[in-house]
Amino acid sequence: MPHILLAMPQTDPSTDRIEIPPQLWFHLNNHVDRLLQCRRCPSMQPIPVSGGPVVSPIMLVGQAPGDKEPLLGRPFAWTAGKTLFRWFQEGCGISEAQFRSMIYMAAVCRCFPGKKATGGDRVPSPEEITQCGSWLAAEIALLKPALVIPVGKLAIQQFLATAPLDQVIGREWQGSRAGVSFTLIPLPHPSGASPWHRMEPGKTLLQAALKQIRNHPAFAQHFSGVRAC
Ligand code: SF4
Repeated sequence: MPHILLAMPQTDPSTDRIEIPPQLWFHLNNHVDRLLQCRRCPSMQPIPVSGGPVVSPIMLVGQAPGDKEPLLGRPFAWTAGKTLFRWFQEGCGISEAQFRSMIYMAAVCRCFPGKKATGGDRVPSPEEITQCGSWLAAEIALLKPALVIPVGKLAIQQFLATAPLDQVIGREWQGSRAGVSFTLIPLPHPSGASPWHRMEPGKTLLQAALKQIRNHPAFAQHFSGVRAC
């Protein structure tokens, strides 16, 4: 994977809008094209799922797609996505369409891992996580995000030492990857499989995390003038 270093998007002081260097979108578009053709992991079910080449100072990192996302061609396209986008609508004032068009959506693994014999989705193996981690590292090197939002334990573990969600959610952390430092604000996974975010202290900690995202300078600037509320 080539390590491409590019300039961060700059703010135009006359308009206070993010200026996107054309070469950054070109390289990100090329990256997504190559990601969609990836077939490195024999036990994964292609095709990879991508949110597209969205140049953004904010990156969401999910776990792995379910069986519906490859068919629909976008991450968080099914029930967990409905909950996730409701959180952002109610807690941060942005719609699903605004989220998808303005935040880069990455993941620990980009392919559906398949089902376990006992039911539920298979957890990606350490080898698969390492293989797919090179795509994530390249995206962080390209975009140099100021804010990364890992969603769910598997995503959080890529940046922070394993700890109970009660000790991780509702706090801001400093993260780094691929030589880039950023703020980390983790979220629980929105799937119905875990009740953590529907019970205390999960409910309160989730609201605290969404407030931290809303108030983060990168989020506030990126969505200034476009938030629904
Ligand atoms: S999981 Fe990632 S590394 Fe593995 S085949 Fe899919 S895109 Fe490639």
